[in-house]
Amino acid sequence: MIEILLNDKAYEQDIRELLMAFYPGETFLHEPDARSDFSVEGMVDGTRRYFYLKIVSHRRQEYPVLPADIGEALEKELERSEEPIAVDYENRLETKSRIKRRLYALLVLRTGRLLPWGTLTGIRPTKIVMTKLTGGETCQEVASYMKDTYYTSDEKIQLAVKTALHERELLKPMDHENGYSLYIGIPFCPTTCLYCSFTSFPIGQWKGRARHYLDALYREMRATAEMMSGKTLDSVYIGGGTPTSLAAEELDWLLDSLEETFDLSGIKELTVEAGRPDSITREKLAVLKSHGVTRISINPQTMKQATLDLIGRRHTVEMVKDCFAMAREEGFDNINMDLIVGLPEEGLEDVKATMEEIRRLNPDGITVHSLAIKRAARLNTMKEVYKDLKITGTQEMIDLTARYAAEMGMEPYYLYRQKNMAGNFENVGYARPGKACLYNILIMEEQQTIAACGAGTTTKVLYRAENRIERAENVKDVEQYIERVDEMVERKRKLL
Ligand code: SF4
Repeated sequence: MIEILLNDKAYEQDIRELLMAFYPGETFLHEPDARSDFSVEGMVDGTRRYFYLKIVSHRRQEYPVLPADIGEALEKELERSEEPIAVDYENRLETKSRIKRRLYALLVLRTGRLLPWGTLTGIRPTKIVMTKLTGGETCQEVASYMKDTYYTSDEKIQLAVKTALHERELLKPMDHENGYSLYIGIPFCPTTCLYCSFTSFPIGQWKGRARHYLDALYREMRATAEMMSGKTLDSVYIGGGTPTSLAAEELDWLLDSLEETFDLSGIKELTVEAGRPDSITREKLAVLKSHGVTRISINPQTMKQATLDLIGRRHTVEMVKDCFAMAREEGFDNINMDLIVGLPEEGLEDVKATMEEIRRLNPDGITVHSLAIKRAARLNTMKEVYKDLKITGTQEMIDLTARYAAEMGMEPYYLYRQKNMAGNFENVGYARPGKACLYNILIMEEQQTIAACGAGTTTKVLYRAENRIERAENVKDVEQYIERVDEMVERKRKLL
């Protein structure tokens, strides 16, 4: 347990996020408590010009040896670790950055560990790179900035720059002025995975009633299409949940509705998250193909059966292989596979075995996630039940997946991070040339307005000139969504 004791809460969230990156899963307290291991104490002085930050140990602490390669900028921060931090409450960003740099230095002293992304806890490191490159800075200048400002490691800087350059190339043909993308959410899955934090309900509970949801969705799609008329639809992503949890005829109806409501003549891609192999049938794949779906995702997460059973996926490794073969037979030439490293009870050898199987299947893209234990996931809400599970995510595992992706002829094309990620790593999408998913880049880089329909979805409107995003969120609960769909439409209308 760690105490966070502050006399001003302005930067509490930033302090907590960095602590979480060093100590994932830890409990934080806001009052002195005899059970805690140490406290992070932050005091703003009366003039509000200085912030005093220190770590006070409550137990005997052996200070570890520091890593050799800490870099010049961090070394300087360590030298002044006992000085007050000059702050400017008018400049929140700079002040936050200084406080995080100091806290990072204190935590490195305490743990002897560096974090691969340094003080960066945000989810879009490539957005920083992209903004700087667009502003005319060179790759070298961007790299120095990330090193000095966030203490990011050379490997991660290289990954972020490489990915941003690739993204920039891929986004060139988009309609930047008048284009938008569409997201449609199907919030059903065969069962709920242990780590799930998405809007997803077991389809069994909706047997015979899913059509009510689709009717409401249709209303929202029709209204959204009207609101967006005159704009160019660049990409469509049908995700969830698992859209293929729907029956083949429901999928057919949904795609008919999409064609009827939106002008798809200019779209560059139409992705359907087939996701769970236990939801895929040949008939459904044929329906997707007949509607011109260009990209699907078949997601094993791991090719180790014991893990699949443990995380509640209710499908076998064989089913993954069969679905993949079936999708190829049905003519899909852009299949992505999602994987997770850091799953419970998995080590490096398991990740390697999974990658070997994936290589044999030969998909067109893979998306490698690091396990993130979100607040709403059963893995978190039922901590007591799962506390004995060993969860290890390591840099070696991440590097291994990157090597396999390169060997399969894939390049990283989008990258994002999540809070509470095992080991504070990242999620990376790799694809062969011509097989990247534009929607994934657009949603991460916030380069375009995304109109979203369905329960639990968020419409994001980009005001390019002001570099500002505004959001309209739909309710998550399916019953509520059906009942209140007109209200969702109105929310969107106000925004759009
Ligand atoms: S397949 Fe995805 S959305 Fe569905 S329960 Fe599993 S993690 Fe959640």
